[in-house]
Amino acid sequence: MANFDVIVIGAGPGGYVCAIRAAQLGLSVAVVEGRETLGGTCLNVGCIPSKALLHATHSLHEAQENFAKMGLTGAAPKVDWARMQDYKAEVIGQNTKGIEFLFKKNKVTWLKGWATIPAAGQVKVGDDLHEAKHIVIATGSEPAALPGITVDEKNVVTSTGALSLPKVPKSMVVIGAGVIGLEMGSVYARLGAEVTVIEYLDTITPGMDAEVARSLQKILARQGLKFILGAAVQRVDPAGKAKSRVAYTLRKDDSEAAIEAEVVLVATGRKPYLAGLGLEALGVEMTPRGQVKTDAHFATNIRGLYAIGDAITGPMLAHKAEDEGMALAEIMAGKAGHVNYGVIPGVIYTTPEVASVGKTEEQLKEEGRAYKAGKFSFMGNGRAKAVFQGEGFVKILACKETDRILGAHIIGPAAGDLIHEVCVAMEFGASAQDLALTCHAHPTYSEAVREAALACGDGAIHA
Ligand code: FAD
Repeated sequence: MANFDVIVIGAGPGGYVCAIRAAQLGLSVAVVEGRETLGGTCLNVGCIPSKALLHATHSLHEAQENFAKMGLTGAAPKVDWARMQDYKAEVIGQNTKGIEFLFKKNKVTWLKGWATIPAAGQVKVGDDLHEAKHIVIATGSEPAALPGITVDEKNVVTSTGALSLPKVPKSMVVIGAGVIGLEMGSVYARLGAEVTVIEYLDTITPGMDAEVARSLQKILARQGLKFILGAAVQRVDPAGKAKSRVAYTLRKDDSEAAIEAEVVLVATGRKPYLAGLGLEALGVEMTPRGQVKTDAHFATNIRGLYAIGDAITGPMLAHKAEDEGMALAEIMAGKAGHVNYGVIPGVIYTTPEVASVGKTEEQLKEEGRAYKAGKFSFMGNGRAKAVFQGEGFVKILACKETDRILGAHIIGPAAGDLIHEVCVAMEFGASAQDLALTCHAHPTYSEAVREAALACGDGAIHA
């Protein structure tokens, strides 16, 4: 039996960040991870591999669409799918090995295997029992099942299967127009698959600023993605021969229809992964949605037991898990850890990228809050036009009375990076005018953020 100050269960972005910070703060720390490699969903089958495939296929798209326009001619690149998969694996390997290195550097012990919590203060891994003052559940999430659909990870896949298909399919149906569905749909559309996205709601990317969602749908449709909205998938009949059949009902008139595809990607959301931990026997309180219930300091109802990341409430995002991991480490070390849930950006890594933070216009209207919206199109941004990315816009929402920034929504080049200047501004309680008066280098995409801030006041210059 070994004793630690902290045992973290799960080495995803929540768990590994929590462990490293706790060790940096002087605590003795072990992390239990059952997977062969560290980094969790994010590094192994989530953020990182999906971005590798998005980058590779975006490059292909650039070559096909824009190279000739710039006078770059010659043989068009061909897709070597096996090599692209190797590239993805190399990227994953570099990142997961990087976490192993950080564990060694910070003296975090990796306990290899699957953990159970037999009693408060105890963690069992295989036959070994360990004790800890603090135990952190950071076990993440898994794809949520949909009734009537059996996933075989070959013809009917989750995102995990979609990242490693044996070949590029000719056709793909994506069920769910959320972030993962649109990102993976983009990847395969760029590789030449005929991609149809079926969504239950009448808009894509539910919860996102409606104007941005409409704009994204139009752009993706031009890139070849087809959309069937307001459609409830009833069942998927697995491939007897070459194709699976997806049966759905159109909500507007209850009419029934079906579509066939070589591969069906089920991307309808994720749910906490808590199997085998023994939480029920321990009496851990859960939310109605099957998440571990925690207080504002990530504590469960069991003394010394905490939970973070996808296993608890809130957006299922790697950086949200990381922030919670860091805050909890500080709390366990006797400091004041805190996460500002009002300023957590969300990004979709399609082309163009989409990013948002804070309130949407719809939310502000619902709250009855007086606001002003400053908008600037990337068509007025010289840099964006030079790289064929004039589509899209920046929208900044500010309080009508105080000018304080309440939210920002960007669709356009590097939106996932641009959003952070607004995040920093919001953390500092800045006004739109503060952003507008900040000198921005020319020519950069970020000038569009400044122009949107200017549009909250006396007006943008290049509009
Ligand atoms: P996880 O990363 O899920 O890690 C949990 C770890 O715990 C796993 O490694 C698991 O093996 C381990 N574990 C579970 N139970 C036990 C046990 N009993 N014993 C030992 N180990 C255990 N988020 C973003 O912010 N940006 C993105 O671009 C993005 N892209 C995504 C793309 C895809 C395809 C997917 C699926 C997800 C994506 N996400 C993205 C979401 C992101 O991956 C998750 O929000 C994040 O990984 C959650 O981190 P976590 O630490 O809570 O859990």
